[in-house]
Amino acid sequence: MNGGRIEIFEGDITKLAVDAIVNAANRTLLGGGGVDGAIHRAAGKELLEECRALGGCRDGEAKLTRGWRLPAKYVIHTVGPVWRGGNAGEAETLAACYRNCLAIAAKRGFESVAFPAISTGVYRYPREEATAIAVREVRDFLAANAVPARVVFVCFDARTRAAYEAALA
Ligand code: ADP
Repeated sequence: MNGGRIEIFEGDITKLAVDAIVNAANRTLLGGGGVDGAIHRAAGKELLEECRALGGCRDGEAKLTRGWRLPAKYVIHTVGPVWRGGNAGEAETLAACYRNCLAIAAKRGFESVAFPAISTGVYRYPREEATAIAVREVRDFLAANAVPARVVFVCFDARTRAAYEAALA
């Protein structure tokens, strides 16, 4: 159904040797907790220096940096919505995160891109709804674009993995 272009990986996104990993960042792009903190720790201080020059990022938008000490060549930083009950445009903002990250990947010719489950941690987006949006947006984009060839949904825990498996089924 996805032509084998979508994969699930359960583990730490900072370990993946892909063209780009996506960071679920905050508006400052200056690091934080969760996956953002893990990416900055693994990439080293050069990533923070590069991010300082970007001047932050709006919700739903995305910005590219190098991967520095990560096995991934690049990091695509995006800012997901904070869950406020579902009537504050959260679904559209989350969908825009996936679309804007994929657009950068396509423009740069990235073959492989790995996403964390954006907004499902500290930002409290309900897991099943967030993974359904992620799968829909990635499928739609891949149907219309040859690049990236491969997208990995990275699950930090078994519940997230189950949510992706259900959304992909
Ligand atoms: P947000 O602020 O967008 O909610 P979080 O980092 O708090 O971002 O959580 C987003 C998702 O990333 C959660 O599912 C969390 O479990 C997961 N996560 C945290 N650390 C890692 C990591 N090292 N690799 C992959 N996913 C991670």
